[in-house]
Amino acid sequence: MKAVDIIVKKRDGGVLTREEIEFFVQGFTRGDIPDYQVAAWAMAVYWRGMTAEETTALTLAMAHSGHVLDLTPIAPRVLDKHSSGGVGDKTTIVVAPLVASLGLPVGKMSGRGLSFSGGTLDKLESIPGFRADLTTPEFLTQLQQHGIVVSGQTHDLAPADGKLYALRDVTGTVSSLPLIASSIMSKKIAAGAHIIVLDVKVGRGAFMKTEAEAAALAELMVQIGHGVGRKVAAVISDMNQPLGNAVGNALEVIEAIETLKGRGPNDFVEHCLEVATQMVLLADAARDEHDARTRLNAALAEGRALQKFAEWIEGQGGTARVVEDYAILPRAAIIETITAPREGFIAAIDAQEVGLTVVDLGGGRTKKGDPIDYAVGVVFHRKVGARVARGEPLLTLYANDRAKCDAAKARLLAAITFSDSAPPTPPLIHRIIK
Ligand code: URA
Repeated sequence: MKAVDIIVKKRDGGVLTREEIEFFVQGFTRGDIPDYQVAAWAMAVYWRGMTAEETTALTLAMAHSGHVLDLTPIAPRVLDKHSSGGVGDKTTIVVAPLVASLGLPVGKMSGRGLSFSGGTLDKLESIPGFRADLTTPEFLTQLQQHGIVVSGQTHDLAPADGKLYALRDVTGTVSSLPLIASSIMSKKIAAGAHIIVLDVKVGRGAFMKTEAEAAALAELMVQIGHGVGRKVAAVISDMNQPLGNAVGNALEVIEAIETLKGRGPNDFVEHCLEVATQMVLLADAARDEHDARTRLNAALAEGRALQKFAEWIEGQGGTARVVEDYAILPRAAIIETITAPREGFIAAIDAQEVGLTVVDLGGGRTKKGDPIDYAVGVVFHRKVGARVARGEPLLTLYANDRAKCDAAKARLLAAITFSDSAPPTPPLIHRIIK
């Protein structure tokens, strides 16, 4: 078998066999198939798509490119959640400690920023000392000792996804249903959680732009999860405007901590509670939705979720003092507030444009392996539906470069649509698929 034949077959719309997919995945994991061939193949998959059988074969091949953990000896029910990618999506940083604080172990493999969408690992790494590159024994020890672990792909766990993910980020091949489904589910299978809630985003700031595409992605991932004996549910949620107020790595960590202190923005708090509720219900740890929410709200109100967050961060080498002192996080040199250019209602905030602006400020990568500027980003003071007066603060911009800051200002203002009348309130949660 030759890699080029597999690329050509997919380029011409052929259906790859399981053997061909395994050959390709094993080849690029070992480094025998170079990046340029993997990039060409990813572009062919992007255009030609994959059948459900091909996507399942790709998922399993990537999951088995390293160890597949069996967490049962540590706990009979380990929980996990994963987002399909959004803007301002810091849900894991709240939901993981929140659920773990109920005594339900959370073991999760996360990703880095991908195109306009931020990555949980990049956000967490803005905390001094935090280590996302755990080895398998470290992953297991952290889970056993603290009941919570969030790590990235390593040489041991789903390394094929690590390689493909970094290439997709910079080759315009992210928003492909089979590539997203296999990327997410390979990580979920390799990390070994028994219970998985998939947070599938839809809208401008998501890779799936329509509800039909999001539902197709959710259904395929749920089916793959069931096929390997996991309990899975998917929440389809809105990602037309950024989630919460903050977009940018360190800024999102601050917003997540504020949320754990009970001071989060309403849309973000509601989203976290919905995802966490689905996790608790799948784990059979509450009688019903109301009971699950009551328990989760109590964990927030009593500070148990925040305490679990601090324990988790410290366990993975981070400075837990971040909880009281945000000044230890990287801070931008230029902080500027942008005001409303007119009176009216905010009708839309284009989340994709906001995400791309933060990438261009330095908050994401444009080339594989680019360093990240953790400090940059934006905090919105008004969201969709708000009535604003001319000159009222709309958002605060955090930058480290004058020219980039000026370019970002113009882009962010252009990303906001104003209207004379109140726009309809967009639904936050669209559907739950089990
Ligand atoms: N999250 C992932 O882990 N992979 C994707 O492709 C998109 C979101």
